[in-house]
Amino acid sequence: MSDVSTEAARRRTFAIISHPDAGKTTLTEKLLLFGGAIQMAGSVKGRKAARHATSDWMALEKERGISVTSSVMQFPYEGRIVNLLDTPGHADFGEDTYRVLTAVDSALMVIDVAKGVEERTIKLMEVCRLRDTPIMTFINKLDREGKNPIDLLDEVESVLGIQCAPITWPIGMGQRLKGVVHLVSGEVHLYEQGRNFTRQDSTIFASVDDPALEARIGADMLRELREELELVEGASHPFDPAKYLAGEQTPVFFGSAVNNFGVQLLLDFFVEHAPAPKPRETTGREVGAYEPKLTGFVFKIQANMDPQHRDRVAFMRICSGKFSAGMKAFHVRSGKEVKLANALTFMASDREIAESAWPGDVIGIHNHGTISIGDSFSEGEAITFTGIPNFAPELFRRARLRDPLKLKQLQKGLAQLSEEGATQFFRPLMSNDLILGAVGTLQFDVVAYRLKDEYGVDASFEPVGVATARWIRCDDAKKLEQFRDKNALNLAIDAAGELVYLAPTRVNLQLAQERAPDVAFLATREHA
Ligand code: GDP
Repeated sequence: MSDVSTEAARRRTFAIISHPDAGKTTLTEKLLLFGGAIQMAGSVKGRKAARHATSDWMALEKERGISVTSSVMQFPYEGRIVNLLDTPGHADFGEDTYRVLTAVDSALMVIDVAKGVEERTIKLMEVCRLRDTPIMTFINKLDREGKNPIDLLDEVESVLGIQCAPITWPIGMGQRLKGVVHLVSGEVHLYEQGRNFTRQDSTIFASVDDPALEARIGADMLRELREELELVEGASHPFDPAKYLAGEQTPVFFGSAVNNFGVQLLLDFFVEHAPAPKPRETTGREVGAYEPKLTGFVFKIQANMDPQHRDRVAFMRICSGKFSAGMKAFHVRSGKEVKLANALTFMASDREIAESAWPGDVIGIHNHGTISIGDSFSEGEAITFTGIPNFAPELFRRARLRDPLKLKQLQKGLAQLSEEGATQFFRPLMSNDLILGAVGTLQFDVVAYRLKDEYGVDASFEPVGVATARWIRCDDAKKLEQFRDKNALNLAIDAAGELVYLAPTRVNLQLAQERAPDVAFLATREHA
């Protein structure tokens, strides 16, 4: 019989972070393979191609070689249920990534053995550090020549500021790659080209002292390995579960994702040591994962997942309790009971109707714009999960429509796409402009592309005289009204109906703030 504590205890919810091209997609595919979530041992290309078939606008992703959307994949492994939340790799989607990282309990960092720690890795690591997210590390592409493993660990330690505890150790690299040693169990797993491709199917020796090993890897290599292992033992830190869970130490694995080598060792260790759902902060109190009543928060919205149905899906991370299909939940922001009908789970590529879901799981809730990023759900208690911010955009453009008859469509498209959180849509009080704000320029291309593809609207984006935006808060209704009258030219309404000050320059913003000391100008609208 299932109950909340047993189900929560076997959940492992994580995200993979990496610099683009390090192998995140490939590793994801191999992990899914172990989970039996995909039957076919397709290549990365196969998976990427299949994704294009289901949603055309991702052709853009292909053009740019980036991952525009995040997705959620669930698979069972060794009695655990693993939830893998994908994160977009491109820097212009940093906010999306940030919010995904608020919804996981741990992360897996992929590093290219030849490139070492790269710029995106550093940024993502900073985000993980904000919440002390436990991190495991996979050093990928061992089938190629790369940096010396000891130097790599040094690099991770000094650049990322986290202690490394190697769990597997490579035997050779590139052409000379022979396998890995498991430093905890002592086992040696041989790399045999071609054999490790679809299933982990390697020859295993119980230890480096196994007399048969020398015949396989050669006397020179074995001697080299022994020396290196001695060095590693002396120089590196042993795995310390408490330090790992505190985000202070990262267990490190070596392998080759594309050859599916070293991946199972990582996954086995991951399901054993990665944290189950942890308690989460709300405005009122901490909510424990094992509490019987359902709570959760929305960390991502995706419009038009299925172009056929124009649906918007809100991705909710369950924090406690049990979700059952068709149940009602309390939507804290609106104060209304909402029926969670047709909720989705995300078993690999297929979306399925969820019968039940538990802490750590993610469900997708269909809605027509009533649910926003950061919204909390409960079984009646007025609690709001904290820490899911909405960043102030730094770039602004005015939408220009080629066919004026499509104005309604354009407004609808801009508003709906903004719900996803990557862009923000503003309508000035005093003009008919439609202004879009974003954190990266790529967002404008994506929106223009999607407007055409999903809404049949041909629009472009041109410069507009806005330097920055601030959300306006004021408890005194009268003062707010005065402020509104005086500053009407610079005020706008965002997609959620909130008042926003669009400053043409930083100096203007400063003056406006000085003139209205009772009004708060907020740089982030923490979704509440
Ligand atoms: P992502 O951008 O991080 O998702 O990276 P991908 O998974 O798309 O991989 C980027 C490239 O690296 C692709 O061409 C992969 O085939 C290749 N790749 C991934 N893993 C390995 C590996 O273990 N060895 C080698 N040689 N190439 C790999």
